[in-house]
Amino acid sequence: MKITDASMTRFGRFGGQFVPETLMQPLKELAEAYSRLKVDPQFRGELSALLSNYAGRPTPLYLAKSLSRELSRKVYLKREDLLHGGAHKLNNVLGQALVAKTMGKTRLIAETGAGQHGVASAMVGANLGLDTEVYMGEVDIERQKMNVYRMELLGARVIPVRSGSRTLKDAINEAMRDWAGSYETTHYLMGTVAGPHPYPLMVRELQSIIGTEAREQILKAEGRLPDSVAACVGGGSNAMGIFSGFLQDEATKLIAVEAGGRGTSSGLKIADHGACLNLGEDGVLHGAMTKILQDPYGQILESYSLAAGLDYPGVGPELAHLVEVGRVTPAIADDGAALEGFRRLSVLEGIIPALESAHAVGFALKDPEALGEIAIINLSGRGDKDLATVMEHEGGEGI
Ligand SMILES: *Cc1c(COP(=O)(O)O)cnc(C)c1O
Repeated sequence: MKITDASMTRFGRFGGQFVPETLMQPLKELAEAYSRLKVDPQFRGELSALLSNYAGRPTPLYLAKSLSRELSRKVYLKREDLLHGGAHKLNNVLGQALVAKTMGKTRLIAETGAGQHGVASAMVGANLGLDTEVYMGEVDIERQKMNVYRMELLGARVIPVRSGSRTLKDAINEAMRDWAGSYETTHYLMGTVAGPHPYPLMVRELQSIIGTEAREQILKAEGRLPDSVAACVGGGSNAMGIFSGFLQDEATKLIAVEAGGRGTSSGLKIADHGACLNLGEDGVLHGAMTKILQDPYGQILESYSLAAGLDYPGVGPELAHLVEVGRVTPAIADDGAALEGFRRLSVLEGIIPALESAHAVGFALKDPEALGEIAIINLSGRGDKDLATVMEHEGGEGI
């Protein structure tokens, strides 16, 4: 293992590149290419055209009138649920795939848990003409048949992972192993602000369009900045995306809502939640120092959330840092609160949120005082994908 501590690869004591030697070269090439391309007018023009014409940006900032009335304050929703694919993930995969293509790569590899990032990767692979292979744990393949079919329909190949717990964290390990041997032709498309440098930085910058738009939109609507911005946190990419627009506005409270799952009892072999910022410990996962769920021997614990996208035993290193320095406030919403958010937003606004986003809504319903007078909730995705999960959870009642 090599530990690089060049300060630019870190956020305080978090981040870095805790990877085998074989990954240092591809990471270096990627970091160099990305820092060159992100200021290149032609690249920026191409990405911006794709974001508007293929993905559907800008997304609206919507004043949720009934929710506002219920909470006795103004609540705006940033509508990433309206982005092509139904979630914010496309902002990141489009940018990375375009970087890969410009670097001359012909193949994308990605990992996926519930399949959402795999589907987004398959979409851009098809759109930009890149071969796409997606590593997915056997257990997840069994649980997520529709998304496996979607990926195949989009022309991607799904590679089953049989190691470890046969879920997301093992799929990430396999994808990294593939990349160490294939980087001359292949780009590894990381799905969130986790992993070794430059991924946390690059993914945050690609998602920062959410925050840039939201800041302009709220200033136009209200003539002032919001008192708070809340977002759900799995790995942290939609949260870092919207927060980055307001980081310098000290008076705007940034609230990171993690999955409380079934409850927050720690010390179990299988963790009952995904709340790394609230309850995690320092450790290294997937190439970065961050807050993770681990047992006393440093073995990674399995996380749990009803929302598959929040079911990750680590969190982006920059978020860990921002919580540590007090800029971001960590919060928790459990499965029950998320289901409440899911139902209330559907009834009040005619918007069915993703179960992930429903955590941020559930938190707002539980603790409206924390939002101040004007708040933005990042609606990271739409809930169509979650209907079966919710119906099953509620014993088939619901249709
Ligand atoms: C994947 C996903 C998340 C969690 O990922 P982050 O990197 O934390 O944003 C949240 N919401 C939706 C709708 C997702 O698909």
